[in-house]
Amino acid sequence: MQNPGAIKEPSFRESVDLMFNRAVALMDLPPGLEEKIRVCNATYTVRFGVRLRGQIHTFTGYRSVHSEHMEPVKGGIRYALSVNQNEVEALAALMTYKCALVEAPFGGSKGGLCIDPRDWNDDELERITRRFAFELIKRDLINPSQNVPAPDMGTGEREMAWIADQYHRMNTTDINSQACVTGKPLHAGGIAGRVEATGRGVQYALREFFRYPEDVAAAQLSGTLDGKRIVVQGLGNVGYHAAKFLQEEDGALIVGIAERDGGLFNAAGLNVESVHGWIAKHGGVTGYPDATFVADGASVLEEECDILIPAALEGTINLNNVTRIQATLIIEAANGPVTAGADEYLRNKGVVIIPDMYANAGGVTVSYFEWVKNLSHIRFGRMQRRQEESRHQLVVDELERLNRNIGDAWSISPDFKAKYLRGADELELVRSGLDDTMRAAYQSMREIWHGRDDVTDLRVAAYLVAISRIEQSYRAKGL
Ligand code: NAD
Repeated sequence: MQNPGAIKEPSFRESVDLMFNRAVALMDLPPGLEEKIRVCNATYTVRFGVRLRGQIHTFTGYRSVHSEHMEPVKGGIRYALSVNQNEVEALAALMTYKCALVEAPFGGSKGGLCIDPRDWNDDELERITRRFAFELIKRDLINPSQNVPAPDMGTGEREMAWIADQYHRMNTTDINSQACVTGKPLHAGGIAGRVEATGRGVQYALREFFRYPEDVAAAQLSGTLDGKRIVVQGLGNVGYHAAKFLQEEDGALIVGIAERDGGLFNAAGLNVESVHGWIAKHGGVTGYPDATFVADGASVLEEECDILIPAALEGTINLNNVTRIQATLIIEAANGPVTAGADEYLRNKGVVIIPDMYANAGGVTVSYFEWVKNLSHIRFGRMQRRQEESRHQLVVDELERLNRNIGDAWSISPDFKAKYLRGADELELVRSGLDDTMRAAYQSMREIWHGRDDVTDLRVAAYLVAISRIEQSYRAKGL
């Protein structure tokens, strides 16, 4: 975040447009289409009152629709005091490009409520959320076929369950009512693997990046994720899952964690699960024992590391701190964490940035699976799992019969047999679909990154892929 008296930078919305402009300058779009794609179609502002603690409190919320080239439009709902129209519109625009990049068949939208959820208890938050949802539902700004929200900063499964229930109460005969919002709890129409999805997507994105030694070399690194030193900003839903999986499954060292009350650093590695548990109990990282604590959390971003994962909010890497950033690979788990000015500086310095519209697309990808599950009214894997197992059993039985015929000369290891015989459940299918999506999207970006002389970074490559798909969609509509 910027300090008082800090260098003035473009707003978040302007930053997104500047990045978009860099890409369209390399395209040959039909006259006028560039402007049509860039602008936000509509932003609805609502002010509503809720009687709480003996008085009426007025809240301000937004739902912005950036592009309806595909419907429904999709995008999270954020609860934070910093929410404003400019931010919501920037986030809605990013959703349009993100969905196109990962081939989720949605337009882009985003919502927000100016509220610090920590100021209110559970009952109060439920009343505020239901009232906000009511205002959006009655204008079809929440609707399974038109506009489908999801969680974002400050919201999670619980808020999505309240929204789904509110929609159902207002549309009792809509058989697809559960598909009006994604990120719901499993028992309320959710899907296995949604909570972890964005962090899991960050892990899959990094794994895919590290499959290409020349891409790794471009980031002035070598080898695999094993032993790579990582600094994470924000140990919320996205940051926690990304850091946890990279530490536990890929052998990465999480050397720094920046949170809102300060930062932790330990060159030997922090235990993510333990820090997460500390935050849950104490409300922040302050006092955590096994690390050096600094009150200025943002300074941890400037520590020596291989990979930086900003996973909190926008604009945290900006013209005021960019010259002190040491990482040579940045993966934007948050939306818009690097300002346009900082992006230019880092590009010139040879830092590789895996852009937000790709890096955090795991959330919307699994939201897409959840929406499909809700519309088909059946959990993934239900029809085929046992059939798959019985076909595998046939193979194992036949191998064992052949083995008996040759006097038990060899045997199938019990571990292989157990793994091979088990059919995929919903979580495995979701992870497989997410992995496939992240790999395919990376390949489409890297083809342009390496294939065109005028493209030197992954962000422009991502925009080029996304905008050309949106263009095709508009053309197909006859626009
Ligand atoms: P969250 O509310 O779960 O977590 C945010 C974390 O950041 C919290 O731990 C908070 O304490 C911390 N934080 C807040 N201000 C900070 C600061 N100034 N410095 C350091 N830490 C700070 O939110 P989230 O869902 O994890 O979202 C994080 C980012 O990821 C946002 O940019 C969001 O738009 C993006 N994102 C989220 C999803 C999703 O599925 N939740 C999907 C795509 C993108």
